[in-house]
Amino acid sequence: MLTPTGSGRKKMLQGVIPGRMMQRPLLVSSLIEYGKDFHPNSEIVSRRVEGDLHRYTYAAAYRRVCQLAHGLVALGVTPGTRVATLAWNNHRHFELYYAIQGIGAVCHTVNPRLPVDQFKYVLNHADDRVLFTDLTFVPLLEARRADLPPGMKIVVMTDRAHMPESGLPDLFCFEELLVSQAEHYDWPEFDENTACALCYTSGTTGNPKGALYSHRSMVLHSLFARNADLPCFTPRAKFLPVVPLFHVNAWGLPYLAPLSGAGMVMPGPGLDGPSLFKLMDDEAVSSAWGVPTVWLGLLAEMGQHGRKPKALAHVLVGGSAVPPSMLRTFQETYGISVVHGWGMTEMSPVGSLGILEPEMEALPQEEQLRLKAYQGRRMFGVDLKIVDEDGARLPHDGEAIGELAVRGPCVVDGYFNDEPASAAAIDDEGWFRTGDVASISPDGFLMIVDRTKDLVKSGGEWISSIDLENAAMAHPEIAECAVIAAVHPKWDERPLLIVVPAAGADLAKEAVIDFLTARVAKWWLPDDVVFVDELPHGATGKVSKLTLRAQFKDYVLPTA
Ligand code: ADP
Repeated sequence: MLTPTGSGRKKMLQGVIPGRMMQRPLLVSSLIEYGKDFHPNSEIVSRRVEGDLHRYTYAAAYRRVCQLAHGLVALGVTPGTRVATLAWNNHRHFELYYAIQGIGAVCHTVNPRLPVDQFKYVLNHADDRVLFTDLTFVPLLEARRADLPPGMKIVVMTDRAHMPESGLPDLFCFEELLVSQAEHYDWPEFDENTACALCYTSGTTGNPKGALYSHRSMVLHSLFARNADLPCFTPRAKFLPVVPLFHVNAWGLPYLAPLSGAGMVMPGPGLDGPSLFKLMDDEAVSSAWGVPTVWLGLLAEMGQHGRKPKALAHVLVGGSAVPPSMLRTFQETYGISVVHGWGMTEMSPVGSLGILEPEMEALPQEEQLRLKAYQGRRMFGVDLKIVDEDGARLPHDGEAIGELAVRGPCVVDGYFNDEPASAAAIDDEGWFRTGDVASISPDGFLMIVDRTKDLVKSGGEWISSIDLENAAMAHPEIAECAVIAAVHPKWDERPLLIVVPAAGADLAKEAVIDFLTARVAKWWLPDDVVFVDELPHGATGKVSKLTLRAQFKDYVLPTA
């Protein structure tokens, strides 16, 4: 009989007999070993902060990972030590992932865009003993010297010639750590449930919370994602992670690359449209991954050139909802296939992917675009449920809307050293509560309505800020927009639309409302439209509704 025990760790089935298979641990070191053995000639190309392009093969990367592992030990890093990284997407950051995790230490990727108080909180909460930093962030560390954990060593990710003049104590040089170290490392074996990496959510409410990944969860996440029918996981592909290595493992790409043999092109700090376009074009990138905001810049650059980067065939967009207008431009104007993904820091992060079955690809183009605008179908290894306010399950009928909860071997069962947050995150059945509101169609498409805290609650009914934003983004003179709830005396909350007009646009509020009238229910229409030069973006590049809500907290609607 099955005993229901929450996350399922202690399930006992009477009468079962044990299998006779080896208990070999799933360890991250096996991914890079596999890559160097089977795809030794696949390349990693990086834009270095020093300015030039660096390129080498997985075989050469492996040798440096081994040297770096020896260097870490020499620096005093032991199993369990938290080692922080403050770096762009580049080859040294990639090497750190494997060297730190390979020796049983924990790679804590720190988001350099964190607000000062959160930056201080995560370094001290993690108790980082060593921090590796790109040259770019040395001034930031100097300014925040008093916030760093006492005694923490700092390694600058450069060679001796580029080492900065700095008053920071205990400053080491990355390349010197590797000099004369052996190019082979006997990777230790340990329990696969050992922690390997740590990433804090950007803390839209309260302190950031640490998702502490294990070797097992990381290897499984790589295998599960590789299992998805995506064109970028072959030695014939070259992908570019715009999604940063400093947030949620760059959606798993540094692990998927050596596993699949795909080449990797790392953009370093050059994330603007022109830099991305040139790098993709020069290096014949076939696939790129990132949040919708970064694609706004790339699409503008593609518009200037009147073409796409020559080999770009596939784009994975996630982290926030993809406006259907963006989907259409990629697909219809440039012939680039878009996969819309949904996930969370707490899920390693991939939860669902918008990959169509062959019979769906035979549907009319409009119908395919409609399906692709949803958040996709669950990845293998991820279970989804939606529940009502009492926690009762709702049907997957495409109609019922409820809070989304998830379960799986790559989903956190709590947070690092944070019991109150852990208890609040897990429901009575052991599922992780996402804080998203969604429905699920009978054929498994996830439709995210909104984050619970972003819904506009008007007279007891919900208005989806995502749906309203998507409708507004279809306007050719709107570059970017966001919807937040504004206080209303009669309806509690009403939508306020905040718009960044496209360059040279001459937009009036009435024109925007007219445009929306044809596209959304009348009672959804924003009570006001405000024009701004730019929207605030959070640490992960998404529009920060928290900041917008603070900016407009005293805003009085004309209808109030
Ligand atoms: P944070 O940005 O707070 O650090 P994450 O990067 O983990 O956190 O973001 C996870 C959240 O982002 C999800 O819970 C969901 O609200 C939102 N999200 C991610 N992908 C999508 C998507 N494709 N569509 C809509 N919302 C998304």
